[in-house]
Amino acid sequence: MEVHLKDLFTRFQLQFGSGPGLGPGSGTCLLKVEGITPGFIKSLFKASAALYRTDPWKRLRPGHLFGIRVGKNSDWIGKKQPFPCVQFIGGDGGDLGFNMFRTVTDAQKMTGSRETIRVPNVEVLRVTYEMESVMFPSNKRMVKSLLLEASGNDLFPSIDVARCNSSDGLEFRNATVEELRFVYAFMKAVAMVHPLLQEDKEATPKWSRLIGFEPFIETVDVQWPPEMTKGWDQVAVTVSHPPGQAYEEKTSSTSSTPTKYAEPPREEFVDVKLNMGAGMRQCTMCEKEINGEQSLCCGRCRAVVYCGPICQKQHWKETHKSTCGLYKAMMEREEELTLEIFMFPCIVDSPCRWLESMGLHQKGMWKRLCNCYSHCSFGLLPSKGGLSDSWGCLDDGEFPPDLPFSKRVRDGVSSPIILSGWSEYYNLRYLPLTSPVAAILSYPLTVYYVTMALSISSKNLLLSGREVIVHYLGPEGELDWMIAFTEIGHLLNGLGNMQIIMVGPEVPTNLSGSVSGIGSRVRVNLIRGIYQEEATYLPSPHVIVALNCRLESYASWGGALDLINSMNVPAFFTDQSEISCANAKQVLRGAGLHITHPVTPNPFRSPVRNQGPTSNLPSYSNAFLLGVNT
Ligand SMILES: [Zn+2]
Ligand SMILES: [Zn+2]
Ligand SMILES: [Zn+2]
Repeated sequence: MEVHLKDLFTRFQLQFGSGPGLGPGSGTCLLKVEGITPGFIKSLFKASAALYRTDPWKRLRPGHLFGIRVGKNSDWIGKKQPFPCVQFIGGDGGDLGFNMFRTVTDAQKMTGSRETIRVPNVEVLRVTYEMESVMFPSNKRMVKSLLLEASGNDLFPSIDVARCNSSDGLEFRNATVEELRFVYAFMKAVAMVHPLLQEDKEATPKWSRLIGFEPFIETVDVQWPPEMTKGWDQVAVTVSHPPGQAYEEKTSSTSSTPTKYAEPPREEFVDVKLNMGAGMRQCTMCEKEINGEQSLCCGRCRAVVYCGPICQKQHWKETHKSTCGLYKAMMEREEELTLEIFMFPCIVDSPCRWLESMGLHQKGMWKRLCNCYSHCSFGLLPSKGGLSDSWGCLDDGEFPPDLPFSKRVRDGVSSPIILSGWSEYYNLRYLPLTSPVAAILSYPLTVYYVTMALSISSKNLLLSGREVIVHYLGPEGELDWMIAFTEIGHLLNGLGNMQIIMVGPEVPTNLSGSVSGIGSRVRVNLIRGIYQEEATYLPSPHVIVALNCRLESYASWGGALDLINSMNVPAFFTDQSEISCANAKQVLRGAGLHITHPVTPNPFRSPVRNQGPTSNLPSYSNAFLLGVNT
């Protein structure tokens, strides 16, 4: 037995005793819960396994309390959320699990430095992960007869409600169906949300081993399992840290606004300061063009560009007062978004100048990174010469060769390469960190990352050697980057196939309907037209992607989103900045779609930061990912 598992059980026995009716398992069994169905037990085990695999114990400690809110109060019997405060236990070699409390006060009273403190007459809902061998016979039988999913190696969740009575004895009972629904929604939501927590570097005392987190609140939509639907099948789940911040019924929108964003600025007027940006900028208020060195920006958030104090004051009064806090928080994530591994200039005030400095201006595929070739339709850039010309005459070794990855056979079997980010990719391809190819490869690698790491069904298909169909919406410059897309075929590494169907109004007429094999494992079809009009003629997709989609700025997205909603296929979107993602969320929710993959930085975003004329907000091609129906 592993050391930490041994600790697990000794510690449990110390805390909760052992024997019938006590200790792990305690004789409670979900099968005995009134009104529960085997289908729901399966879903519960699935959800707790999914949570277990995200390993929240790596960072979350008993001192970190979380608030949880599932739907509206009126959804619950008694109109109160059953266990709205959660703490994760274990992680230092202790028992892995989590406790759920009825109030924050209960949680604080019961949180000791090393173990849970027994407080009489307080109920705790516990989910603990146990080895099958030490489970009670009734639970063992349940696991066997329902073929329940294991969470970890031979580990299964045990769910019960514990209560210390006044004579210091412990009593256990089964959770009710209502309580189990609550736990289910929590497990689904927190698995998506906890990786988004940001370490709070300032607030943590140096001597403490505990990580502190910045105030956090995120709402995601959770799909109820089919056996639980009660006329509605999605529920908004809000996770907050610290707890107790999100508990008023929201009146207006359902979208989440982190509390630190919501706090209204106290000062009525905020100063301006000189902008650091070079190049031509544009005033947010009057749209006048100004030289970068002469432009001003909001002194509080530094995000918004002005021509002078008069425009700044007016903008503050009219709109900026209410958004400045939000922008400030987004600006604070600048550092986190910077991909520091690369050794070429990563800030662009003018794309032409950046390309020029790299010796790539108006060359090969790079022609699509500035507007100099806008007279030439997408997909019709003249291409001659070999691979090196396409990559703008970079030196050999500075761009990926059109060759398989070497030494990528594990145990005699080759299978798709799983990548977590750029450094891994550059390493595998032996590319120097001075090579800017990531700026173009961001597109194919994001598609690959979505199909291989984020969309479970397409990953399974690829791993079993089958074909995945991707609908790729609204291609533009990508139409001239087929050479970059061949890399997907190499990453598939001898297993599975991908058919990428690029649909959009920018596909040139003479290429529409064409199919090209780029490598033996990837086929690209090009279709000119509007997605919702063309989709019926296309093979149904396993996953839909739309990169740098700017959902809020195109009315034509409406029809496409309705279609995505009715097809119920996983769809992933990327956008350039956090503010465009916030807007995209609104558009998606407005179309009846629920965000099931919350906005997260894309590990395959372009390392090259763009600078919009009116804003200093961090902006990168494919910067953030979000998903629906995932
Ligand atoms: Zn102005
Ligand atoms: Zn501001
Ligand atoms: Zn140019």
